[in-house]
Amino acid sequence: MSYRCPRCGRETVYSEELEGLCEDCFREKYKIHNLDKLRVNIKICPICGRVKFGDKWIRSNKKNLKQLILSQVKKKKDIRGYNVIIELNQTGDETPLPLNQLLSDNFMIIPATLYKKKIMIQAVMIEIKITKQICPLCHKKASGKYYEYIIHVRFTGGRTKEKETKVREIIKSVLSHAKPDVFIDVKKIRKGIDIKISDRKIGDRLLHRIIDTFNTDAREYSERRFEASLNKHIVIKKAMVDI
Ligand SMILES: [Zn+2]
Ligand SMILES: [Zn+2]
Repeated sequence: MSYRCPRCGRETVYSEELEGLCEDCFREKYKIHNLDKLRVNIKICPICGRVKFGDKWIRSNKKNLKQLILSQVKKKKDIRGYNVIIELNQTGDETPLPLNQLLSDNFMIIPATLYKKKIMIQAVMIEIKITKQICPLCHKKASGKYYEYIIHVRFTGGRTKEKETKVREIIKSVLSHAKPDVFIDVKKIRKGIDIKISDRKIGDRLLHRIIDTFNTDAREYSERRFEASLNKHIVIKKAMVDI
């Protein structure tokens, strides 16, 4: 004997999961009418592009952004009990999202699909409001409180003004080729300057430019320090250079 959907009378296969209904009727039963866009807010750091997730700041790649959006969407009362699948048009989960686009637009709209028990119920739009906020790490870097490299430049044998100008030119040039979240903090002291660099690789590059320009060498050593904003130990490289 064939089974018929109690709602529309069509012949169907009985499924307890679908409450005995046919797929169409199940979809119709759970369709959310007048479901406007789902709105979520994200905070993004305009310097490094990290996004705020709870009280953490994480990289804004596709995987992280998806998780962040889903965690907010799941709190919506309207869609409790539904599964949400969102699509971000990027290749690969680790791909960083186009930061410039995220920063220039205040909104981003992405398509999503609601499911209930593996049955696709309906499509919905997620409207993401983007606000900019400088993350604590970038704050720290900008004020010279976070650094991975420190170069102590000491002037020996006169022409200090000239030497300082040259060092500052080198810093400018190195910085112009670095990413926007790299900061170099320069402090003038008696008989020299202390240069704090927020990025180890850039610090290394800067040190070698200074060494090559002044035809000198450096005494280098490193130190481990606990960095509270990252909740881990970081290695700080130090170099002493006489020029
Ligand atoms: Zn039916
Ligand atoms: Zn940042």
